[in-house]
Amino acid sequence: MEQKNTREKKAVILLSGGLDSTTVLAIARDAGYACYCLSFIYGQRQAIELEKAKESSARLGAAEHLVLEIGLDRIGGSALTSEMEVPKGRSFAAMEETIPQTYVPGRNTIFLAYAMAWAEVVGADDIFIGVNALDYSGYPDCRPEYIEAFEKMARLATRAGTEGKRSLRIHAPLMNSTKKEIIQMGTALGVDYAATHSCYDPGIDGRACGQCDACLLRLKGFAEAGIRDPLQYKAKEEK
Ligand code: ZN
Repeated sequence: MEQKNTREKKAVILLSGGLDSTTVLAIARDAGYACYCLSFIYGQRQAIELEKAKESSARLGAAEHLVLEIGLDRIGGSALTSEMEVPKGRSFAAMEETIPQTYVPGRNTIFLAYAMAWAEVVGADDIFIGVNALDYSGYPDCRPEYIEAFEKMARLATRAGTEGKRSLRIHAPLMNSTKKEIIQMGTALGVDYAATHSCYDPGIDGRACGQCDACLLRLKGFAEAGIRDPLQYKAKEEK
């Protein structure tokens, strides 16, 4: 908070309220950026993550937090935005092989497009996104070649880019990190993981299911890092 207006470098941070994006916010802040956090209400069933995003952006001293409403549930096609079943209890090998129902069509492209527009308005040359190509669910819009292609497109798409004054960069600092490394990094930077949410299918009380891909990867990461996960999980037999 204290350095809010003295930081000259500005960055737009895509902040979902999950473990990865909250760590990314801490990384950007540590690198000296004034952080403009961007979150979306997109019809996701895990809308509780937005509360966490608000908490973390305030706690980590964001310059601004913008929450936009976009109705991706009207498009559907994903277990996160419709009544489709969230896969539970998948093996880590299966996660690497098939793109699950929790994939949201076009999500990162849509989010990055909003981030690009806001970056141009606030005068930010940098966008941070918490995508990860290792411990993840096999989503196509989390791969390095996708991020590179978007960066190239953003330079063609913006006034700032075509006038040659500025060059937009997309940072994906967690791209090649394991969950264990991400948790260790965030812990060292003072992230409070109690103020993050990962579960795709939380109960009405907000507790994580412990069985979806996001929960399983998170639990594995904390176990490997030797750090206690501060979240509460539902017992297996609970619905
Ligand atoms: Zn879960």
